[in-house]
Amino acid sequence: MARTIMPVKLHEKIVAEVNDVRIDGMGIVNITPSYPLYIADAIPGEEILLEVTQVDKLSGYARVLEWLKTSDKRQNSQRQYLIDAGTAPLVNLKYQAQLELKQMQIQRLFDQRGIVSSVDSTIGMKAPSYYRNKTIVPVKWQDGHLTSGFYRRGSHELVPMTDYFVNDADIDKAIITVRDILEKYNISAFDPDIEQGAMRYIMIRRGFYSHELMVVLVSNHETIKFEENIITDICQQLPDLTSLIFNYSPKKEYVLLSPNNRTLWGSAAIHDTLLGYDFVIGPNSFYQVNPQMTEKLYDLAAQKANLKTTDVVIDAYSGIGTIGITVANQVKQVLGVEVVPGAVADAQLNIKANKIKNATYILADAPEQFKRWQDAGLKPDVVFVDPPRRGLTSQLIQATVDMGPDRLVYISCNPVTLARDTVEILEKGYHLSGTILPVDQFPQTSHIESITVFKKSS
Ligand code: SAH
Repeated sequence: MARTIMPVKLHEKIVAEVNDVRIDGMGIVNITPSYPLYIADAIPGEEILLEVTQVDKLSGYARVLEWLKTSDKRQNSQRQYLIDAGTAPLVNLKYQAQLELKQMQIQRLFDQRGIVSSVDSTIGMKAPSYYRNKTIVPVKWQDGHLTSGFYRRGSHELVPMTDYFVNDADIDKAIITVRDILEKYNISAFDPDIEQGAMRYIMIRRGFYSHELMVVLVSNHETIKFEENIITDICQQLPDLTSLIFNYSPKKEYVLLSPNNRTLWGSAAIHDTLLGYDFVIGPNSFYQVNPQMTEKLYDLAAQKANLKTTDVVIDAYSGIGTIGITVANQVKQVLGVEVVPGAVADAQLNIKANKIKNATYILADAPEQFKRWQDAGLKPDVVFVDPPRRGLTSQLIQATVDMGPDRLVYISCNPVTLARDTVEILEKGYHLSGTILPVDQFPQTSHIESITVFKKSS
């Protein structure tokens, strides 16, 4: 069999100009027109000395050994470890350039699909750091200490990290406090080499306005030793704590959290407010991670939806009901659908707590529920969709256009699937209404959130 000759060799060192940027923020050097190398922390226009670190059939990876010419978009964040970790890959790109990059990425994906569109400048954060209201970090015993940090890609080595830069600083502190208490009681941690041990992750959630703090101990074992002592110590050392939860999540069955929660102390959920509404947030519920920008996002989405008091509105992929609840008093009726039972339960509590009388939340798979609504003859005026990264399904798009809402508001956390879905929506009798608006929910990372409004063509 003939061996393919690759255009680069492993560990080869090459001087090259960075030609482009991939959707995840990695720089691209086109070694040949059809063989790209992907490189972290390399900005288009820069000249670098690179070392090839991985050679695959159609593309490869490299790392920068030296920057021979740097871009004026570069800043030295002094936080190279975040690039190595992959948790904040854009940290060396000036914030204005990050915002422009995100706008360009969406525009390019739409252009590539031949969709005539215009993408607005990305709305950014004033202080684009320490914004996340939630984190979950792995723990592991290393060198005689319980260590928290991140797993180096493709390895079982936990790299310690204490300043995540994107988390609320009180969350970073709480992780260390909890970790040190677990270390004091010599609690075992899950070891990926032998697939044994108890503690897997520490998850922390903190209300931006309420300052309520939730700590979740995620364990591979069903019980925790020294439970009473640990509860006492955590309560003493974290005065803002309102909810301490034990999540039994055997590694064999769950990637992160399981639905098996036991409240060790305090409440089973925390509260926070969003646009003046009160929300209860349980450990398994999705809740937007950047509360300041989420208020902007929802406010802008509602404005762009041009809501009327006579409108029947669907809130699909609703999480704990945030979008529907914040627009309910502007419309006639809200119908929500969400697939995670805990989140729907939270949504129902949130309707009551906010004295909302015209909203209903249903536990179901969104595409299936859309089909049922369509079969029942529902005629919504406005449909909000806020799907996970994989985007919408054809079934959901078909059911939507069959119900024929006047406006479809698509909040997307992944422009790749947004552009794909847009093609289908446009083919089925809708057009883009106005511009696509990126709102930066995830500064320092390559994630791109945006609002797109479709209107039914008459
Ligand atoms: N609109 C909410 C949640 C958005 S995240 C907010 O902004 O807070 C996407 C949500 O879709 C998650 O809550 C997830 O649980 C839910 N989801 C994922 N797949 C789903 C499906 N097939 N049907 C309904 N909801 C789904």
